[in-house]
Amino acid sequence: MRSQGLLFLLLTLLGLATHVLAESPPGDGLVPVIDAQTDHQGSIVDRMAFLVEHEQPLSFDDVQSLIRRNPAVLQKPESSVLTRGINSEAVWVVANVINSTNDTIVRRVSVGTGWLEHVDFFLLADNRLLQHFVAGDRIALNERSLAKRLPSADYSFPPGKTRLLVRVETADPMKLPLYFSSIASSHNQEQAQTAFYSFVYGLMFALSAYTLMLFVSLRQRRYLYYSLYTGTFVAMTASYNGIGMVLLWPEAVVWQQWAPPLLMLCFASSGLAFATNFLRTKLNRPRLHRVIQVLCISYFVLFGICFALNEQGPALRLAFLIVPVFSVLMLYMGVSSWMSGNESARYFMLGTLASAVGATITALTVTGTISYTQVGYYAVDIGMVVDAMLLMLALADLVRKNVDARVIAERTAQVDLLTGLNNRRGFLPVAQSLWSLVTRNHRNICVAMIDIDNFKSINDRYGHAAGDRILKKIASELDRSRRHGDLLARWGGEEFTLLLPETDQAEAHKVAERYRRSVEQLVINDHGKVIQCTISVGVASRHSEHVTLEHAIATADQRLYQAKVQGRNQVCIGSTSDEPKRRSPPPEKSS
Ligand code: GH3
Ligand code: MG
Ligand code: MG
Repeated sequence: MRSQGLLFLLLTLLGLATHVLAESPPGDGLVPVIDAQTDHQGSIVDRMAFLVEHEQPLSFDDVQSLIRRNPAVLQKPESSVLTRGINSEAVWVVANVINSTNDTIVRRVSVGTGWLEHVDFFLLADNRLLQHFVAGDRIALNERSLAKRLPSADYSFPPGKTRLLVRVETADPMKLPLYFSSIASSHNQEQAQTAFYSFVYGLMFALSAYTLMLFVSLRQRRYLYYSLYTGTFVAMTASYNGIGMVLLWPEAVVWQQWAPPLLMLCFASSGLAFATNFLRTKLNRPRLHRVIQVLCISYFVLFGICFALNEQGPALRLAFLIVPVFSVLMLYMGVSSWMSGNESARYFMLGTLASAVGATITALTVTGTISYTQVGYYAVDIGMVVDAMLLMLALADLVRKNVDARVIAERTAQVDLLTGLNNRRGFLPVAQSLWSLVTRNHRNICVAMIDIDNFKSINDRYGHAAGDRILKKIASELDRSRRHGDLLARWGGEEFTLLLPETDQAEAHKVAERYRRSVEQLVINDHGKVIQCTISVGVASRHSEHVTLEHAIATADQRLYQAKVQGRNQVCIGSTSDEPKRRSPPPEKSS
C-alpha cells in the first residue's frame, strides 16, 4: 500500500515535470519573475530583463521566439532605471508575472518618463496576446489606451503565469523607470508629482508674470529677459514631462516632438540675454558679448536646419549640448563679474551655481551615471527655483542700489561739496517753510548775508587751492559759531547766508557780531603760511507780515553792500522796510 502510494507520487511528479517542460520554452528560466501580489513602490527595471532592437523593428512574436532560441539575448539592467542615451535603438523589457492566488490581481504598469515617443505594453499567456496598450507622446492624448501623461497600462493578471513585454521607442533620451504597483499607489504618486509641479510651476509662473509687469511699467529690458528665462523654463519642462500636452496641446503631436529642443534653446538664450544685460557684459566684456551672440544665433540656425531636414536626433543633441555650455558660461560670467567688483553678481553667481548643480544632478540621474532617486530626478527643478529666487534677489539688490544712488545724488545736489554746508537748493525750501511758520505766528526772524572780505586777493596771493582750503576753514568756523536751530548755507562763491528764527533785530546784531569776531580771530595755518581773514555781514529782520524771504534776503544784501562801503569787517543792520536796490561791487579796499 505504501509502495503503491510512493509510486503514484513519483508518477504524478514526473507527469508534472513533463507538463512544465512541454509548456515552458527553452530559456524561460532566464526570464525574471515578478510577484503580482507585491505592490512595488519604486522602479523595478532591475527585476526584469531587456533586449535591444537592431536595425529591424521586432514584433512581440519575434521577441518571444528570439528569447526561446537564444535566451542570452536578454540582458540584465544594472540599475532600477534603464538608460540608453539620445536617439538609441528601441528597447524591449521582459518579465514573467506570477499570480499565485486564485483571483485576478489588478496592477498598473507605467513608465515614469513623459517624453518617450512610442510605448507598447503586451500581456501574454501561453504565447497568446491577452491585452495590448499603446502610449507615448507621438500619439494624441485621446488615442492612447489610457489618456494619461505617463505611459501606463492597467492589467488584470489572471492566476498563474503571464508574460509582460514593454517596447519603448524614442529619439529623446531613453530613460526607463518602470513601475508595477496597485492603482491606489500609482494614484498617490501621481498626486505627489502634481503637487510638486504645481508648486514649481506656480512659483515660476508668478515670478515670470510679475517681472513682465515690471518690464511693461519700467521699460527695463532685464525684467523682460528674466520673465522670458523663468517663463521658458516652465514651458520647456512642461513640454518635456508631458504636462503641456495633457493641458494645452493634446492633439499637437508634431509640436510635442519639436517643442522640447526648441524651448531648451529659447531657455538658454533668454538666460544668457538676462545675464549679459544684468552684468553689463556688452560694456565690460564686449568680446565675450559678441561670442555669446554668435553662439546663440548659430544654435538657432542649426536648429532651423535640423527642423527643415526633419532630423530630430541631431536637434536634440544640439539642445542637450547648449544646456551645459549655457551653465558653464553663466557661471563664468557671474564669477568674473563678481571678481571684478560687481557686488550684485554674487546673488547671480549663487543662483547660477544652484541651477547648474541641479541640472548636473538631473543629467547624471537621467543618463544613469548616478543611481536613480526622486530628488535626483527633480534636482533641476529645485535648482531652478533656487536660481529664480536668487536672481530676483539680485534684481532687488540692483533696485536698492539705484535707489541709494538716487538718494545720494539728491542729497549731493543740496549740499555744497567744498564746505559740506547746505547750498542754495538745500537752504531755500527749509528757510521758506520756517519763514512762513514764523510769519503766521507773528514771531521774529532775521536773515544775514555774510561775505569774506577781499577774497580775490587771497586767491591771487596764495593760489586757488589755498583759497579753497581757507574757504573751507571759514565755513567750518561759521558752522561752529552757529546756534542750534539757525540755518547756515553757502549762498555761492565766498558768500554765506544765515537764517535766525525767533530772533529780533538786536539779538541778530549780537549774533552777527559774534560771527564777525570769531572769523577775525581765526588764525589759519596753511602749509606754514599764517593767514587771517575778515567778513562783512548784512542783517535784515522781518518787519511786516507781507515781507517775503526773498525780500528780506535782498535787504540783507543791501546792508552787506553798505558794510563793504563803510570799510568791511563790520555788521550792518536794518529792517526790510527799505526798498532794496541791487548791490553793485563796492570800491576795492586799499591794502
Ligand atoms: P569783497 O571784499 O568786495 O567781497 O572782495 P572780494 O575779492 O571778496 O570780492 P569779489 O566778488 O571781487 O571776489 C570774490 C572772489 O572769490 C573771486 C573768486 O575767485 C573767489 N571765489 C569764489 N568762489 C571761490 C571758491 O570756491 N574757491 C576759491 N578759491 N575762490 C573763490
Ligand atoms: Mg568777498
Ligand atoms: Mg563776494
